[in-house]
Amino acid sequence: MLLEREREEIVRACRKLAAAGLVVGTAGNVSVRAGDLVAVTPSGVDYAELAAGDVGVHRLDGTPVEAPLAPTSELPLHLAVYGAYDGDGDGDGDGAAAIVHTHSVAATAVSALADELPAIHYYVAMFGGTVRVAPYATYGTDELASNAVQALRGRTACLLGSHGAVTIGPDLKTACDRGLYLEWVCDVYLRAAAAGTPRLLPPDEIEAVAAKLTSYGQRP
Ligand SMILES: [Zn+2]
Repeated sequence: MLLEREREEIVRACRKLAAAGLVVGTAGNVSVRAGDLVAVTPSGVDYAELAAGDVGVHRLDGTPVEAPLAPTSELPLHLAVYGAYDGDGDGDGDGAAAIVHTHSVAATAVSALADELPAIHYYVAMFGGTVRVAPYATYGTDELASNAVQALRGRTACLLGSHGAVTIGPDLKTACDRGLYLEWVCDVYLRAAAAGTPRLLPPDEIEAVAAKLTSYGQRP
């Protein structure tokens, strides 16, 4: 099976996102790029029943290579993002080798309220700064894909207006983790904004935290 490891990784990621409450039913979609191939979730299959063989493999131009089922309706978005952010793996956050798109509740609520997720918490540094909300466009269209590409410039996350969230990363674990953190920050923002006017962090502090986060965690 072509890209067997990537397709199995996608199945595990979908179950993790469902268990974390970020996706309901068949909403959302996940992809991984390997060279000029993209493994992407099929349309309308419940994640509890998804098998690695159901995950389709397409070329970067969308041509199916090994895809037993119709791909996600957001395939144009995935392909446009890979086309724009080349997955160079140099760790500067502008590459995309994996994409996670969900309709998680808090992120979708913010996407319907605001033009951006402001710097309410230092975690926005992991997305490259405040998270833009792309203008609304009908799902599955090239217009939505183009709006997402623009909103992702210099960022590892964006919100799609009145729709949901997109996170990217050099690998699928990173893209998934960013989806979980984005949902958390959106939830904090909604609660704080409901109770009053939240204080926001200045851009130079977000830059300082972004630099600090690159050395955070366990080092071998
Ligand atoms: Zn969607």
